[in-house]
Amino acid sequence: MERAPRASYRVAMIALVVITYTAPMDRVEAVADAHRAYLKRLKGEGKVLSSGPFAPRTGGAVLLSIAREEDASAIVAEDPYHLEGVARHEVHLWAPGFGAELLPRARPLDGKTAIVTGASSGIGEATARALAREGARVAVVARRKDRLDALVASIGAQGGLALAIAADVSRDADVGVMIDATVSAFGRLDVLVNNAGVMLLAPVAEAREEDWRRMVELNLLGAMVASKAALPHMKRIGGGHIVTVASVAARVANPSAAAYAATKFGIAAFCESLRREVYKDKIRVTVIEPGLVATELGEHITHPGMKASVAERAAAMTPLAAEDVAAAITYAVTQPAHVNVNEILVRPTDQER
Ligand code: NDP
Repeated sequence: MERAPRASYRVAMIALVVITYTAPMDRVEAVADAHRAYLKRLKGEGKVLSSGPFAPRTGGAVLLSIAREEDASAIVAEDPYHLEGVARHEVHLWAPGFGAELLPRARPLDGKTAIVTGASSGIGEATARALAREGARVAVVARRKDRLDALVASIGAQGGLALAIAADVSRDADVGVMIDATVSAFGRLDVLVNNAGVMLLAPVAEAREEDWRRMVELNLLGAMVASKAALPHMKRIGGGHIVTVASVAARVANPSAAAYAATKFGIAAFCESLRREVYKDKIRVTVIEPGLVATELGEHITHPGMKASVAERAAAMTPLAAEDVAAAITYAVTQPAHVNVNEILVRPTDQER
């Protein structure tokens, strides 16, 4: 078969060095000034073609410099703020004339801080990664600290910033520590994702009351206490967003899911009431209602028959992936400030109810 002739072209590539700082608010200007002086010095040596400060943001500053590709790595290696560990650099290739679309976009959550509970696995872990990719600094919360540490390292390796907080969200004191530690590390709280939860299914007549208590204390009270604790911090900065991962069980009460559905109906009702209390403070409230998601959730069921039946149900369909739900959460929290996405119900295509 004859091949169509290929166009051949060469473009001169130069590198765009993007330097992103994560600095405490009171140091932003000082860091930006020092870096401007540093770039000026390089320019004198002919390394930087142009430079300029981007609007310093709350808690961070972004500066750009354009250099020849071969100079980019030298700039990164020499930058004193990089060496101090407060700066993060990305090198992007840029072809004159083709440049605009290759420039790094300002990310919707740049400068914002999020807490994600239940981030050691499943939906929470995927959500933490997704929010970090959109620019948020993320406090990841759960009981399994080793998992959180690995997640923090992995987000860091992708150029993000995360903080691991070991906490049991069903304990009020731990919730207080979670909020305080986040605000003292990052200076603010913009987004709270109440995701930690357990689903201990059993018919009412065979259920263990201790399982009911665990679900109520975590799925319902844990999310309520965390939401309340977040409010003063969100009001202080003039707005915020509280996202709660409920379930399709917040709408449909199936047999053997009585207590679980009670917690999910309950938290959805709490969120709607909360929304009507705080919308005037520019705090948005979103309830996410996933159908079946492939995660560890079913593994904790204590009733053997129910554990097997959930596994069978999952095997009979293509469930959602944790990343599908993370995408729904990311959609809600990246809308413009005047858009309040109150509810997202997302089922696998295979799932009827
Ligand atoms: P996973 O079991 O994978 O994740 C649950 C998370 O909650 C884990 O990180 C776990 O971490 C954490 N967690 C459990 N108990 C506590 C506690 N006491 N304190 C702090 N963290 C805790 O399941 P999913 O990702 O599926 O579940 C996330 C949410 O999604 C839950 O609220 C669930 O009800 C909801 N959901 C899930 C669906 C599904 O089909 N999977 C469908 C609809 C909703 P650790 O054990 O380390 O503390």
